[in-house]
Amino acid sequence: MARIVMKFGGTSMAGIERIRNVANRVKAEWEAGNQVAVVVSAMAGETDRLVGFCREASPLYDLREYDTVVSAGEQVTSGLLAIALQAIGVPARSWLGWQLPIHTSSAHASARIGTIDTTELNASLADGNVAVIPGFQGLAEDNRVTTLGRGGSDTSAVAVAAAMKADRCDIYTDVDGVYTTDPRIVPRARKLSKVTYEEMLELASVGAKVLQTRSVGLAMKEGVRVRVLSSLEDNRDEEGHRGTLIVGEEEINDVERQLITGIAADKNEAKVTLTNVPDRPGAVGHIFTPLAEAGINVDMIVQNVAHATGSTDVTFTVPRAELARALDVLEKSKAPIGYDALIHDTKVAKISVVGVGMRSHAGVAATMFETLGERRINILAITTSEIKVSVLIHEDETELAVRVLHTAYGLDAPEDDAA
Ligand code: ASP
Ligand code: MG
Repeated sequence: MARIVMKFGGTSMAGIERIRNVANRVKAEWEAGNQVAVVVSAMAGETDRLVGFCREASPLYDLREYDTVVSAGEQVTSGLLAIALQAIGVPARSWLGWQLPIHTSSAHASARIGTIDTTELNASLADGNVAVIPGFQGLAEDNRVTTLGRGGSDTSAVAVAAAMKADRCDIYTDVDGVYTTDPRIVPRARKLSKVTYEEMLELASVGAKVLQTRSVGLAMKEGVRVRVLSSLEDNRDEEGHRGTLIVGEEEINDVERQLITGIAADKNEAKVTLTNVPDRPGAVGHIFTPLAEAGINVDMIVQNVAHATGSTDVTFTVPRAELARALDVLEKSKAPIGYDALIHDTKVAKISVVGVGMRSHAGVAATMFETLGERRINILAITTSEIKVSVLIHEDETELAVRVLHTAYGLDAPEDDAA
């Protein structure tokens, strides 16, 4: 017997037919003698619809009421799945976020999970019942319903798995695993059988949309074994495994280890340049302190060499969704910063190569720069971490850059088994 969490995303829950398919998958695990908790998303598109209603009701909606509204999507699917399970002879009940409860912070619309009370849940599982838990929702200390931020059901699933000390957390989605890059851009992308938490964290944060970034961080911290797999197909690799396992580095052996694990493209950043900033101590602080105070995350930063005039240009990126606020903050700080012009560009993309292998290998960045240079792709900014190199390029060159890098790092699948 194992204790498992099965999580199903919005595409898997879209409509009664698909919910029946999910119920059959759950039944198979339950019939095998496992204790099963299921975490579900709202039907695909439903959360967007509910968010739209809030905006329509008032552009300045109360976030506590927003949470009341948008958490409803998961309430519906959790009840429907419990009904579908009962209909095929599986004893099941729904447990809403406030019923367990799943305690969260009071940051409405982006709450963080604290503790989860599993006393009643464990008793119910031990009695042979399947528990269906709506993802994305929780309860703040003042007894108000909260939600975890878009894509938050993944984090709910990992948190539930950690709290009930599950043997694994299976995330069923509309793709059959994590790929070396987006197969829609590179048809010869390969499915990874294993990826480390750290790599997945970097890949999720730079645009690989398979899992919510926060869920990966939580899985790493709690040591939850996560598997990403398809709810629609049953593809298996040569060893008979399905999907991609996300595990600690010690579980990946040398044969499996590649220099580069994956390449991701992210079009959610915007570039900002301030010209002729005085080149003196403290100047950069005048730029980034007000942005930090406004809660705006700055990612890549480049400071050019000083002009003969004793000034310099500073370029950085911010999330595209925050650009308007960032420009506002910078315009208001024009006097203390002392720049000439404020220039911005949203037609940029960040391309990142990620792999724990680069810790022990030199030359990864050089290969990236050379490969892009050969294709005359201009690099606008660079950042690196221990296991990642990212460059900012013009948006129109995204697909070409991903494709040539995928080949340069030897990630292309052999011709005959291309996807
Ligand atoms: N339904 C929520 C969303 O669309 C949460 C989730 O599906 O993960 O963001
Ligand atoms: Mg999702």
